[in-house]
Amino acid sequence: MKDIAPLSTWINSSDLKRPIVIAGPCSAETSEQVMQAAVQLKSHGINIFRAGIWKPRTRPNGFEGVGEKGLAWLQEVKQKTGMMTATEVANAKHVELALAAGIDILWIGARTTVNPFAVQEIADALQYKNVPVMVKNPMNPDLNLWVGALERLRNVGITKLLAIHRGFSNYQKTKYRNEPQWQIAIELKRRIPNLPIFCDPSHICGNRRYIQDVSQTSMDLNYHGLLIEAHPNPKEAWSDAQQQLTPNNLSKMLDNLVIRDAEVNNKNILDTLGELRAMIDLCDNQLLDLIEKRMTVVEKIGEYKKTNNIAVLQNKRWSNILRRIIKKGKAKGLSEDVVSTIFKAIHIESINHQTKIMNED
Ligand code: PEP
Ligand code: MN
Repeated sequence: MKDIAPLSTWINSSDLKRPIVIAGPCSAETSEQVMQAAVQLKSHGINIFRAGIWKPRTRPNGFEGVGEKGLAWLQEVKQKTGMMTATEVANAKHVELALAAGIDILWIGARTTVNPFAVQEIADALQYKNVPVMVKNPMNPDLNLWVGALERLRNVGITKLLAIHRGFSNYQKTKYRNEPQWQIAIELKRRIPNLPIFCDPSHICGNRRYIQDVSQTSMDLNYHGLLIEAHPNPKEAWSDAQQQLTPNNLSKMLDNLVIRDAEVNNKNILDTLGELRAMIDLCDNQLLDLIEKRMTVVEKIGEYKKTNNIAVLQNKRWSNILRRIIKKGKAKGLSEDVVSTIFKAIHIESINHQTKIMNED
C-alpha cells in the first residue's frame, strides 16, 4: 500500500493552518441557497465547500437530497468563488457523476462505512482516480470497520485520504446526537499515524449549542480540521436544522477556538513536560503492578472456590465492591461513570482468570 499523502498535496498551503475548515449546508436545497451559503462562507475566509446532494436518511419520506442536478450548483460555486467542493457518495454511480462534474473531494458517510460491500463498490469505481476521499466513522463504534474502509480505498491506490470523526449512534439518549467516544478516534490515530483526522462536530452534537465545546475538544486532541454544517438560514434547513450554524456564527465559533501547538519545540517546556510525563508513566506502571497483584489474589480465591465447589461469580459480593468503590472514588473527585467503567473491566479480567483456573484439570 502506498503512503497516505500529506494534506499539503491537495489543500492550498494558505488553508493548512489548524483548523482546516470544510463548511457548507447539510443538503444542497436550491441553487440560490447553495450559492448564498458559499458566498457567505467565502467572505469569512472559508475555501472548501461541502453540500450533500444524495442524502441517506434513517427513515423514508424525509428529504433525500436534490440528486444529480445539485452537481451543477456545486460547479457554479467552484467557478464563481474558487472554493474547492465536496459531496457525499454512496455508490459507484454517485462516484462517476461526481467525478464527471469535477467535484474536488468525495466523502463516504457513516451509513456507508458500515457496509463493506458498498465501500468496496465505491473503491472499485475510484480505481486509478487519485481523488481525495474523506471517510466518516461507521455509525456503530467499530474501529475495524473504519480502518477496513480506509484500507479498501488504499488498496485501489487512493492516497489523499482523511478520516472524519462524526460520533457513534447510541441507543441511550444523551446530550449528543452521536456519542463522540473520543478514544476510538485516538486509537485510529495510533493505528494509522499519518492519517489526517477531522472532527464533524455538527453530527456529534445534533444541536448548535454544543458545537463550540466539541470543536475545542477536537482541537485539544490535535485534529487537523473541522467538517461543519453551515446554512444561510439554519432554522429553515430541509435537513439537520438544529445543528447548522449561520456562516457568521461559524466564523465567531472559529474565532473563539483556542489552538494550542501540536508539536512543542521549546526546550524548557519540553523538560517540564518530560518530567511530568515520567511521573505519569510511573503512576501507570504502579497501576499495572497493582492490577497484577490483584490478579494473583483473585487466582488464589479461584483455587479456593474450585476446591470447595463455589461458583465464580458471586453477585452480592460484586455489588458490594462496586458500591463501596464508587463511594470512595467520589470522595476522591472521580466520577461514578469512570470508576464503574474501570472496575467493571477489572472485574471481567478477574472472572476470566478464575474461570481459567476452574477449567484447568
Ligand atoms: C452529512 O455529513 O450530512 C451526513 C449525512 O453525515 P453522516 O454520514 O456523518 O451522518
Ligand atoms: Mn447533516
